[in-house]
Amino acid sequence: MSAALAMDGGPPIRTRLLPYGSHWIDDDDIAAVTATLRSGWLTTGPQVETLERQLAHLTRSTTAVAVSSGTAALHAALFALGIGPGDEVIVPPLTFAASVNCILYRRAIPVFADVDPDTLLLDPACAAARIGACTRAIIAVDYAGQPCDYAALREATGGRPVRLIADACHALGGADGGQPVGTLADLSAFSFHPVKVIAAGEGGAVTTDNPNWARRMQVFRNHGITTETRARQAAGAWFYEMTELGFNFRLSDIHCALAGSQLSKVPAWIRRRQDIAARYDAAFADTDSLRPLRRRPGVSHAFHLYVVRLDTARLRADRNTVFRALRAEGIGVNVHYIPVHLHPYYRRHLSTGPGLCPVAERSYECLLTLPLFPRMSESDVDDVIAAVHKVTGHFRR
Ligand SMILES: *Cc1c(COP(=O)(O)O)cnc(C)c1O
Repeated sequence: MSAALAMDGGPPIRTRLLPYGSHWIDDDDIAAVTATLRSGWLTTGPQVETLERQLAHLTRSTTAVAVSSGTAALHAALFALGIGPGDEVIVPPLTFAASVNCILYRRAIPVFADVDPDTLLLDPACAAARIGACTRAIIAVDYAGQPCDYAALREATGGRPVRLIADACHALGGADGGQPVGTLADLSAFSFHPVKVIAAGEGGAVTTDNPNWARRMQVFRNHGITTETRARQAAGAWFYEMTELGFNFRLSDIHCALAGSQLSKVPAWIRRRQDIAARYDAAFADTDSLRPLRRRPGVSHAFHLYVVRLDTARLRADRNTVFRALRAEGIGVNVHYIPVHLHPYYRRHLSTGPGLCPVAERSYECLLTLPLFPRMSESDVDDVIAAVHKVTGHFRR
């Protein structure tokens, strides 16, 4: 007989909660930060350019522009394209709110398009159906770390002047057909928030091959001012002009030093994430109440998240009950995401609600994110597998 569930008073699989994600700071990272603290530069110094060159190299893009967060990166990408009041931007709802909020920051109009039921990535046919005379861009989200099919999305634009922005906040280090994330769309936004692929505390960046957009983002992150402090100092000049309404979205040298040190670990960390995902795939292959997301052929998945869908027809429990049961076993499962159009703000301001994106809404009801991060030990992975088998076995119809 199997042990009682922890939520029913039985012994838990783990006594200390295993989080769903966690950063990994080592002595190299600490040395990089302390060297910067001793260098004399705290912000907008040499570490910014070093990080930008390193990120451009990793993603094989021409330019990277470092900014203060992934949210600022998306905001800057929309600014680069000159998107403003009355413009429409297509976006999927199954994402973090920032993917959509950035559109409102530009006083533009978010147009929600549904996701593919098997990958949960923006469905190119749904995006195509939402394109109209005012559409200026599509923000596609590389959900869980899987790059979207940007070739199909480009085809969906039908040759109209609609730009592609990758919200690649989950997908740093991923690739499609050997081409790295960062060059698949016109502009790609990354986040260095600790729960993402690399940690800078806070931070983000945009990569692009377009020098004009890169320049616009460099101005945008610095109040809309055309010369940066260091360039002015080098020229011995006091003169500057503000040509656009920008923000202070700069990333400090301290953050850039940490991000740069972390970035060197990305290839190894992605391999580790992929190995853990492969262990989960094998362990759950015969668990018919769990359905993993479909992987696109030719994709190198960054596995920011390992997401499964519960087949609730095969269980005597809904997602929320399974969630509580796994938490009680010491497994820090999570849910990514409440569809953005169902948040109270969006319902109030854009009059959105249930029925707008039925696939995202239905999927949300059965989504579960399992712990996955490079520092997890094999026995942590064993615990997750044991807890999932225990809980799904208990609730099997
Ligand atoms: C984290 C995240 C963001 C925002 O990044 P921050 O660095 O936290 O501002 C945007 N989009 C997605 C999909 C994210 O997961």
